[in-house]
Amino acid sequence: MRTREEMKAALRAEAEAVIEELLDQVEGEEPTLAELEDIVLKLRKRLGERMGKVVIEGQEATQPVKRPRCPGCGEKMRYKGMKPVTAESRLGALGLERAYYYCDRCESGLFPPE
Ligand SMILES: [Zn+2]
Repeated sequence: MRTREEMKAALRAEAEAVIEELLDQVEGEEPTLAELEDIVLKLRKRLGERMGKVVIEGQEATQPVKRPRCPGCGEKMRYKGMKPVTAESRLGALGLERAYYYCDRCESGLFPPE
């Protein structure tokens, strides 16, 4: 579990990146009102995705805690490291890092808690 200060720093970094992108797009050429709307809507979506990624990854459930048991055979599964996964959410498709576990006997893996 990350600390509140770590979460704040990570969220601030994501917000800053989106703000930079917004300013890059509105400075220089003068966008029309419709273009400004499109830019802000797109960045609003991206900011939501990035904030979702930070808070979801910060949750204990996505971190390696203890080895889960295989749903197939009941053996303890082997930790295989953090792997990138795409999670569909109401915030959009989130690219997350999740702990991955593998059962050698069943030759199947999973991302707990699901
Ligand atoms: Zn198994």
